[in-house]
Amino acid sequence: MPLDEIKARVAAACAAADRPADDVTLIAVSKVQPLDRVRAVLDQGHRVFGENKVQEAAGKWPAFRETYDGIALHLIGPLQTNKARQAMDLAQAIHTVDRPKLATTLARLAQDMGHCPDLFIQVNTGEEPQKAGVLPSQADDFVAQVRALDLPLAGLMCIPPVDEEPTLHFALLAKIAARNGLTGLSMGMSGDFERAIAQGATHIRVGSAIFGERDYG
Ligand SMILES: *Cc1c(COP(=O)(O)O)cnc(C)c1O
Repeated sequence: MPLDEIKARVAAACAAADRPADDVTLIAVSKVQPLDRVRAVLDQGHRVFGENKVQEAAGKWPAFRETYDGIALHLIGPLQTNKARQAMDLAQAIHTVDRPKLATTLARLAQDMGHCPDLFIQVNTGEEPQKAGVLPSQADDFVAQVRALDLPLAGLMCIPPVDEEPTLHFALLAKIAARNGLTGLSMGMSGDFERAIAQGATHIRVGSAIFGERDYG
């Protein structure tokens, strides 16, 4: 689907929710996509992209940055502590802070490097054993821990279970954010970003709807 069409759907969802269109950042999730598709989206003027692997992002974005100004990269996949420094060099935002050890590593590196990307805490709203993120019941404590480390906490992120109505998960994430005074909400993907916007999403992560299906073959 052309980028313009996705942007029009974002604008319509914002209007329906009585929210200004610039409330929502559209993160074009470019993982696994062929470079020519990514370049096409860059050529249309889009500058905010998401990757879920540090290695893949490091192989792709430094070269694009030589050609295109103003690229903002959001890391949306699980982050190992031994890749944290590289992630902080590459990305303007990390959406997947999910454990104390990662938070303390980021804090130490932030001191060392003198900068830190915007951070989102991933919440495992569906309490799925295989999924990263703090449990909803632990979220308030973890927010306090991250804040105590003086890290730039922008908000919360979730990936709802595939087989459940995402609206309930988006609403839960919004509720946890509100009671912690957090405004950033990273939620909504190709199949449900309008519902996420209705629940207050500020960052939507849209891949296949922009670029086409990912070919992992
Ligand atoms: C891949 C991915 C997306 C994008 O998924 P689509 O369904 O292609 O829009 C969003 N969020 C995360 C965390 C992802 O890994």
